[in-house]
Amino acid sequence: MINQIKTISDLHEFRTSLASKKVALVPTMGALHEGHLVLVKEAKYLADIVIAYIFVNPTQFAEGEDLDTYPRTLDSDIEKLEAIGCDALWLPSVEDIYPNGPEITVQAGEIAKPLEGEYRPHFFDGVVSVLARMFELSKPDFVMMGEKDFQQLQVVKKMVEARNLPLEIIGVETMRDENGLALSSRNLYLTEAEYSIAIRLNKIMKQVATNEISEKNAAEELLKAGFDKIDYLTKRIGENLCPDPQNSDRVLVAAWLGKTRLIDNMAIEQN
Ligand code: AMP
Repeated sequence: MINQIKTISDLHEFRTSLASKKVALVPTMGALHEGHLVLVKEAKYLADIVIAYIFVNPTQFAEGEDLDTYPRTLDSDIEKLEAIGCDALWLPSVEDIYPNGPEITVQAGEIAKPLEGEYRPHFFDGVVSVLARMFELSKPDFVMMGEKDFQQLQVVKKMVEARNLPLEIIGVETMRDENGLALSSRNLYLTEAEYSIAIRLNKIMKQVATNEISEKNAAEELLKAGFDKIDYLTKRIGENLCPDPQNSDRVLVAAWLGKTRLIDNMAIEQN
């Protein structure tokens, strides 16, 4: 049985009992899929003890976003984590994480401004606020994060650097389904018809990554395929997300399909 940690004092007790063992933290919002589990698997290679948490963080959702309807599948999440031998599952309450009520306590840096920052300006401040608190409470040596959320990974790396936190952020490659769609908890929102459109995203993005088509043509292709709106589809330097046509090494995309917003990214093949 996985050790379920529900209070801060239980977390302190567990963390203290680990003494000098190396601890990896796997932050999640639940509705776990193979993309999350691969983070746990990588964590098991790196660390002696793996703690996953599930916390649907209110400060990273804006008014009108899906905080209340975000998929919650705790029983099956527990089964999945147990099956792969995750040591502990931390299930903090909102009060534990935000003793003064949900609020922004840490500002994300410059790298949070473009791309996602333009379309979801609240988002990264919420992400770094919750993570700073989670790191302070659980004191991990490693934190596992998916490349699926590529800008988030870079934003959090910069936050850790800026605050001199004694931990390492480990980026893990994106897990895709058999049709190439990046796994995401929000894929549960897609209808069957939308799914068959969604799988075009990876294929069109790949054409950009291999320099077969331009970003502009790719955006047109996505709309032709049935996407409703493209927030961005752009090549950037991965490390700082600046545009630089000569040295871009990532393509990043955010596109709407009905009420679902899909994001994805891919390394650009260098010639
Ligand atoms: P979420 O529960 O969506 O907040 O995601 C928790 C963590 O899992 C984040 O670090 C994500 O980047 C990562 N993640 C989500 N989907 C995938 C995926 N398909 N492959 C790899 N990591 C992922």
